[in-house]
Amino acid sequence: MPFVDISPWILSLLLAPFGLILGSFGNVLIHRLPQEDPAERNLNKASHCPSCKMRISRWHNLPIFAWLWLRGRCAACGWRIPVRYPVVELLTGLLLTTSPWIFPFGSLIWLKGIICGYALIMLFFTDLTTMILPDVIQFPLMALGVSFTLPQIFYPEALMKVWTSSGDILQVLAFHNGLQPAAAYHHFEPTVTWQQSLAGLIMGYGGPWAFERIYVFVRNAIVANIGGRSIEAGMGMGDFKMLAWLGAFWGCGPMLQILGIGAALGLFLGVPLSIASRAIKLPRVCRTLNAWKKPMQGVYCWWFRAGILNQMLPFGCFLALATLVVVFFGRTLWLGYLGHLVWAG
Ligand SMILES: [Zn+2]
Repeated sequence: MPFVDISPWILSLLLAPFGLILGSFGNVLIHRLPQEDPAERNLNKASHCPSCKMRISRWHNLPIFAWLWLRGRCAACGWRIPVRYPVVELLTGLLLTTSPWIFPFGSLIWLKGIICGYALIMLFFTDLTTMILPDVIQFPLMALGVSFTLPQIFYPEALMKVWTSSGDILQVLAFHNGLQPAAAYHHFEPTVTWQQSLAGLIMGYGGPWAFERIYVFVRNAIVANIGGRSIEAGMGMGDFKMLAWLGAFWGCGPMLQILGIGAALGLFLGVPLSIASRAIKLPRVCRTLNAWKKPMQGVYCWWFRAGILNQMLPFGCFLALATLVVVFFGRTLWLGYLGHLVWAG
């Protein structure tokens, strides 16, 4: 099987400008997709300053460099451009430049890793700034996650062996012959089967949904006996959808790891951060009374009322961070845990 013999350094250099351009487009998506007004959601509109509506010139749209050149301010009105803009461009640039080191270049898992990383960068920032995880991003990702397994069914011969730096042999799906080993690849889960992908999709949405239903049922049963306000299930939450597509991408096991690590990060990182940042304005969702009726959000709102939190936790941000941990260290953590069980037994 002929590997392309291009140095990863050269691939990184070639991919860098694409990463910066994707990052620039990501900023447009982060700003426009969570908007309620359909005219503001329109992606065909030219970039403009959100403050003075002035059209942004071609040169002032240049990723990172324009922000540095303008010292973080709009050229027309002096509006402070959030640091988020260069950060998103830098992160997406890094995602693409590091990709040939992390995933075998030209394989399906390479494409999968880039799409997943790009989606996580966008969802992290829409959740952080607006508490919204847009459906327009998440529904296509669910379908895409499952369709990544289709070549296994229709083109089983596309399964190819890849040698990792540690000498292991893994099977990955390749588009074509353009495959080459990646230095860090041994950290990853091997190819996700269509069964694992479907199970991840169903469990990702269905698991938390069932948990919420049971919680509502039990709570209302108690309320009916001792008195108090009954609650209703808040369906269609972005977090469930995020778990669903992550499950479709990486399988059921890693999805559960993401949920566990995400919840732990939210508890040990999110709560202290939230207490520390009391001055931050309340997100839109907590300002609407409706949020109090939804139990998952209601737990946060209870903390909020008790003065423990001053804002809702954007759980999608913690799920995004957890995915990074699991994709890089999931196998190591899991094997370590199994080892611990064997050792304890
Ligand atoms: Zn302006």
